[in-house]
Amino acid sequence: MRLVLLGPPGSGKGTQGVRIGARHGIPVISTGQLLHQQITHGTPLGRRAERYVRSGELVPDEIVLDMVGERLEGSVDCAVGFLFDGFPRTYPQAEALDRMLAVTCGPLDAVIDLDVDVDEVLDRIRRRAHLEDRLDDTEQTARRRMKVFAEETAPLRRYYEQAGVLRTVDGAGSPDEVAERIEATLADVTHPGLPLLG
Ligand code: AMP
Repeated sequence: MRLVLLGPPGSGKGTQGVRIGARHGIPVISTGQLLHQQITHGTPLGRRAERYVRSGELVPDEIVLDMVGERLEGSVDCAVGFLFDGFPRTYPQAEALDRMLAVTCGPLDAVIDLDVDVDEVLDRIRRRAHLEDRLDDTEQTARRRMKVFAEETAPLRRYYEQAGVLRTVDGAGSPDEVAERIEATLADVTHPGLPLLG
């Protein structure tokens, strides 16, 4: 299964990504986490990316695409598939992913768009700042990340809608509730040919 998880910062992508990965036995590739690792290890890529992550800006496409290309070439088994969390985030990234998939694993099966209210998301990010050691969970960067999402990433909904793979899922409620909705929306991807119930 070839999936992308789309949704604003704090929409629960990380939590849901891990669940989807475990449930379907597919690797979750989180560009946010990959970047964080590169930064912590002080690699050249990490050093180039750090100031963007800290300020809540997007890391330039070329850096992200190098990193993703390496990951795809190195260890993705197309027969198993993958879930991208937090990638793509811009048009050039989405187009580059399509090009990479065209010569490797084939097109995406579904793009799950977690739909959540902006105030709810800011609230979650504030709470998370106390729980996790993130570089970018201050109030100011949280707002910046929301704005960047609205400007750069939200337009991808249309891109994937036109490709016929967008599946919008209500992201409100408990992680269990959201996970159930995601499974329901993936039913025809996991069991192609079976009629959808309800
Ligand atoms: P995330 O954990 O997905 O919210 O990502 C944390 C931060 O990493 C973002 O605010 C960006 O600075 C950077 N980042 C993660 N994924 C991408 C991407 N696909 N393109 C550009 N920057 C990214």
